[in-house]
Amino acid sequence: MSWGVYVHIPFCRRKCWYCDFVSAPGTRGQMTAYVKALQREIKIEGRRLRERGVTPPRTVYLGGGTPTALPVNLLLSVIESLREDILALTAEGEEREFTVEVNPGTVDASYLAQLKKAGVNRLSLGVQSFDDGILQNIGRIHCGEEAAEAVTLAQKLGFPEVSLDLMYALPGQSLDVLQKDVARALSLAPTHLSVYGLQVEEGTPLFQQVADGKIILPSEDEAEAMYDYLTNFLPSQGYSRYEISNFALPGHESRHNMGYWQDASYIGFGAAAHSYWQGERYQNTADVGAYIAAIPQDEPIREPEEVMTREIAMAEFCFLALRTAQGLDKERFRHKFGVSLAEVYGEVINGNKNKGLLVENENFCRLTPLGMKYGNMVFADFC
Ligand code: SF4
Repeated sequence: MSWGVYVHIPFCRRKCWYCDFVSAPGTRGQMTAYVKALQREIKIEGRRLRERGVTPPRTVYLGGGTPTALPVNLLLSVIESLREDILALTAEGEEREFTVEVNPGTVDASYLAQLKKAGVNRLSLGVQSFDDGILQNIGRIHCGEEAAEAVTLAQKLGFPEVSLDLMYALPGQSLDVLQKDVARALSLAPTHLSVYGLQVEEGTPLFQQVADGKIILPSEDEAEAMYDYLTNFLPSQGYSRYEISNFALPGHESRHNMGYWQDASYIGFGAAAHSYWQGERYQNTADVGAYIAAIPQDEPIREPEEVMTREIAMAEFCFLALRTAQGLDKERFRHKFGVSLAEVYGEVINGNKNKGLLVENENFCRLTPLGMKYGNMVFADFC
């Protein structure tokens, strides 16, 4: 069985204005207590997996928050726990993708070198933009030059996979500025790029600033022009769009994220982490304090996310697979649910084909470029 491990580190140096993830600044004491709880959760789960004879995970992803907001010795102790209690299940010599998310404002050469030595082979750097004014507008802690230096450093240290996150439709960003961001990103030759449009989430400082008229966002037309530029230009530069928001040089797709879209199981560790195991979805409590308090007492921290009816499972299978360029594999659908895709979704598929949002052949059903742009409309139909 191919499965993945996700570890959530809910700390950041400072909260970005647009962020609604489970993350906040933490004291050294809170971080130490959190890592201790995390290690215990990993140990207990590792024992369960061993008892059940589960085969080793193929991918590991440390995200957040900002994993590198932890002092390096704490992050290394998390990796050591994973190695002892989970990855020890791994057959010798198996190649594993091991990703750590990095905020460029939190690392130096020594920090990254220690991650490399610990077996991390993929870094995902949250760059967002190289424009200092824009970075300030969204409350990032780093400047553009620091981001570029972190990428160069990672490459010099020999990380084989270096991915950059970029954002568009940011306050103060024009198409021209975005084009400069992309040119700068490509000049650094990452293996992978993730590109996200800014979402203004209720409850964030940015939401309030926009509501008060203190921050003006690009218009819908400008945001659409940015989207069109990114989705046309990056493939022309060799970065194939293998998922709605993800672009990679051939062979450098994120295996961990592909698992999410291809119905692979994963176990999440830490506060707010999600798990998907044997068809059930769980979420750990998102309250970091409650998580730290519950783990030593062996109190339950996992809650079922939803009652997974057969209808929900089928819809999820479809709209996750449709996010990818490969699309929805009809045979895999039939194999998993014992019924053909056409029998369940024939009408939905035909309706979206008529709108130019979906195409299909004998084996796959996939979004057209227009369908990728309006993916949420298609996904809603499957639900
Ligand atoms: S670094 Fe990432 S997780 Fe942390 S506040 Fe900023 S956007 Fe949120």
